[in-house]
Amino acid sequence: MQLPSAFLASLKEANGFHQEAFEHVHASVEAVTSIRLNPAKSFNPFPEISTPIPWTMQGFYLSQRPSFTFDPLFHAGCYYVQEPSSMFLEQVLKQSVDLSKPIRALDLCAAPGGKSTHLQSLLSAESLLVANEVIKSRAGILKDNIIKWGSANVVVTQNDPQDFSKLENYFDVIVVDAPCSGSGLFRRDADAIQEWSENNVTHCSLRQQRILADVWPALKENGVLIYATCSFSIAENEANVKWLKNNFNATSIELNVPTQWNIIASDSGYRFWPHLLKGEGFFIAAFRKQDGREVSPKKMKRNIEKASKHEMNSIANWIQTEQLSFIKNNQTVYAWPEIFVDELSILLQQLKIIYSGVLAGELLRDKFIPDHALAMSLLVSKNVKKVSLHKEQAIAYLQRKNFSCNTNEKGWVLASYQEKHLGWMNILPNRINNYYPKELRILKEREGN
Ligand code: SAM
Repeated sequence: MQLPSAFLASLKEANGFHQEAFEHVHASVEAVTSIRLNPAKSFNPFPEISTPIPWTMQGFYLSQRPSFTFDPLFHAGCYYVQEPSSMFLEQVLKQSVDLSKPIRALDLCAAPGGKSTHLQSLLSAESLLVANEVIKSRAGILKDNIIKWGSANVVVTQNDPQDFSKLENYFDVIVVDAPCSGSGLFRRDADAIQEWSENNVTHCSLRQQRILADVWPALKENGVLIYATCSFSIAENEANVKWLKNNFNATSIELNVPTQWNIIASDSGYRFWPHLLKGEGFFIAAFRKQDGREVSPKKMKRNIEKASKHEMNSIANWIQTEQLSFIKNNQTVYAWPEIFVDELSILLQQLKIIYSGVLAGELLRDKFIPDHALAMSLLVSKNVKKVSLHKEQAIAYLQRKNFSCNTNEKGWVLASYQEKHLGWMNILPNRINNYYPKELRILKEREGN
């Protein structure tokens, strides 16, 4: 792994850089594997090979890399495979925000969803997360990961950062995990080394400033902005932190970081070097906004259609209904926490929402057909029948193949594995209809099959 000499030279002044150790760690092929558990769904499926990541309650290093594709619990949303340094977001949030209070959070550059799913696990049930991704194809992946994680208090949007300036003083927390030159991930993606150039670093740095300027008005007074990159370059990190403080009324938030974690404090931010800790290159900094005015929420005309009493009779067979509103878009029904219905009408008028709450299903005349998202959520009614699959059946189900199982159940049931929901199936007298979504199915075949 030959690192560009201009790249190495540009890091000479970076806090914590040590060329020999840095090159050495890039020459070795030691790949760090780590997962973050979904506290709403899971126990640790890999206890024998796990050690905790010190800066998060939910993350674990794995001493071997299991086949995640062929682990049904991965598809059930029990854990997310994520690089350890990024999980430091948890410390930043816990040390700068009162997470017990209801807050509105925006994850501006959210795909594929690592930070958003982490936020979902950290925010209270009365809080609202807007997970945004500007690039359409990536927004679809974000949506799938949000659905898999299962919470109902999330809205997925596909907007340009500029669009958020309309939501002035709206968010308590904004996370900008900015698109960057990506040098922090060279160990995982050797091809990225060829694409590195000083010009690209400058381009990324200017784009990051534009993104920060676009979203700043959407932060409330005393709100917290968290800025992160997976680049080692000073121009994208410390220089942008300085730029933010020079251009906006922002003060840095200093964190309490135990020295044994080997995270390097650097000009109001924190650097993660792979030669100093078990994780990839990462930079994160947090700021508090010192100005802004309290904007009383605009009273919006409710343009939301709720399910009728009659329709609720069929819906209630499938889903817990307490404290939820059931919102209709044609025949599609979304379950939405009652407390956020007004928020949703505000957001619907300002943003391009591609997903919100939990997609419960479709009303077809008097019948309710449940959606996959309902199976993944935490809202399924306790009365819905489940059929437990063993591993081979679960894999066949996730591959969307035909399979058989011994059960007396009939009709629509949840396919489950180790008590975690995988999706829906309809058991007919002579076959099982597999409703696992085609676009999510496992395409690979297991060796030996
Ligand atoms: N936060 C994500 C996670 O933890 O899984 C990773 C985000 S990635 C570092 C940066 C994201 O910014 C990408 O998904 C990329 O598509 C998006 N992006 C690209 N150009 C952008 C722009 N001009 N404004 C906002 N986001 C942009």
